[in-house]
Amino acid sequence: MEENFVENRCVELLRTIRWPGGIRCPRCDCSHIIEVGHIRTFPEHRRYCCSKCKYTFSDTSMTLFHGSRLPLSKWFDAIILGAKGSSAMGIKRELRITYKAAWRIKHLMREDSLAQEIKQRLLPR
Ligand SMILES: [Zn+2]
Repeated sequence: MEENFVENRCVELLRTIRWPGGIRCPRCDCSHIIEVGHIRTFPEHRRYCCSKCKYTFSDTSMTLFHGSRLPLSKWFDAIILGAKGSSAMGIKRELRITYKAAWRIKHLMREDSLAQEIKQRLLPR
């Protein structure tokens, strides 16, 4: 079974998990956040600026997804595949990504608490 996630919904889920009470600055924890556009490569990912410390960040800043060239939807697919026991080779084939990327994703996910939380939200009990 292949899951197909829409990027927009993935970003929304990430926001809900990271910031259940609304977006906060990852640096100073201030909740006065201004939206300042989006990430060039992924228009669904918003950029923010903290009105207190002026730190600018995005939906994926300070997460394992930060700086990835893969869309969140692929990461989420990989999380599901990994949870169902797929090998890095299986993830590579299924998502048509490089073996290196698949291997990296599989290993990053194992210890990342955010990835664990996403997995719990995505998988039916
Ligand atoms: Zn701040």
